[in-house]
Amino acid sequence: MDRAAVQAQISRIAARMAREKDRGQVARYIPELAQVDPQQFGIAVAPIKGEVILAGQAEQPFSVQSISKVFALTLALSRAGAGLWQRVGREPSGDPFNSIVQLEYEKGVPRNPFINAGAIVISDVLLEGRDQQAAIADYLAFLANVTGESQVAIDPAVWASERATSARNRALAQFIAAEGNLRHPVEEVLELYFQQCSLALSCAQLAKAGRYLAAGCREMGAGPVSLPVSRARRINALMMTCGCYDASGDVAYRVGLPCKSGVGGGVLAIVPGVAAIAAWCPGLDEKGNSKLALEALEDLAQSMSWSVF
Ligand code: GLN
Repeated sequence: MDRAAVQAQISRIAARMAREKDRGQVARYIPELAQVDPQQFGIAVAPIKGEVILAGQAEQPFSVQSISKVFALTLALSRAGAGLWQRVGREPSGDPFNSIVQLEYEKGVPRNPFINAGAIVISDVLLEGRDQQAAIADYLAFLANVTGESQVAIDPAVWASERATSARNRALAQFIAAEGNLRHPVEEVLELYFQQCSLALSCAQLAKAGRYLAAGCREMGAGPVSLPVSRARRINALMMTCGCYDASGDVAYRVGLPCKSGVGGGVLAIVPGVAAIAAWCPGLDEKGNSKLALEALEDLAQSMSWSVF
C-alpha cells in the first residue's frame, strides 16, 4: 500500500469535508448523541502492517453504536460457531435498523446480526455461561486486544442516555423473548447491548480494531486475536450485505467495500488484504448512516481504486 498516496488522499478528503455545508442530522433519539458537534470529521486508515494513517479529528473518541455489532458477532461466532445461524439470519432486512415488523412474520428470528433485533440475540449468546459483568468485561478485553490499547471504555453518559430512551429496543427484546429466542432475562440482555453500543473509540482506534477483518488471523502474526480467514470473509460479506441497513445496496454500489455504520456517525470499512478504514462525521442521512463519512469513503475508495468488485 502506498502510504504517501493514502495520506495525501485522506488529507484532501478531510479538508473537503470541513468545507461541506450539508452535513446531515445528528441522532436525536439518544439525547446524549444530539449534543455532539456536527462540524467534526475524522478518518483513519490502518494497513494490515504498519502505522495507522490519520486526517482530521481522527483521535477524537466518539460513540461506536452499531459498529459494535461487528465485534459482538465476532465474539459470538467464536463461542457458538455456526449454531448461531439457527437464531439469527444472514439476509438484508430492507428495513430500518430498529424495525420490528419482520420479527412477527419470522417468529422472532431477526434477519441479520447487524440490525438491532439481531444484535440483541447476539448479546444473549454472549451471556451464555457468564453474567452480564463478565460478558462486558470479555467484550472490552477483545476490543483492547484488537485496538492494541491497554484498555478501552464505555461512555457512561451515552450508556445512561440509551437506557433512558430504550422503549423501541425493549419492544424488540420482549418480542424476541416471547418467541422463545432469548435464553437470559430481557433486562440483562439489553444492558449488555446498551453497554456494547456505548463504547467510545477514535477513528484511529476503530481502524486498528478492524484490521483483523482485513487480514484474518494468519497475517496478523502472533497476536491473541484468533480468527480464521474464512470467518473474516464471512463477516465482511455480512457487512457488505447488511452493514448499512436499508442502504446496504446503495453503499455497496457507491463504496464497493464491506461497511458497518453506527448512529454515532462512524463507519468502519474493510479493504480485504489491504487495510481497515474508519471515518466519522456525526450528521446522519435519512437511513441513519453518516452522510459525510460515506461520502469520504466513496471518495477514498475511488481515488485509491479500492473495491471488492
Ligand atoms: N444503540 C443504537 C440503538 O440501539 C444503535 C443503533 C445504530 O447505531 N444504528 O438504537
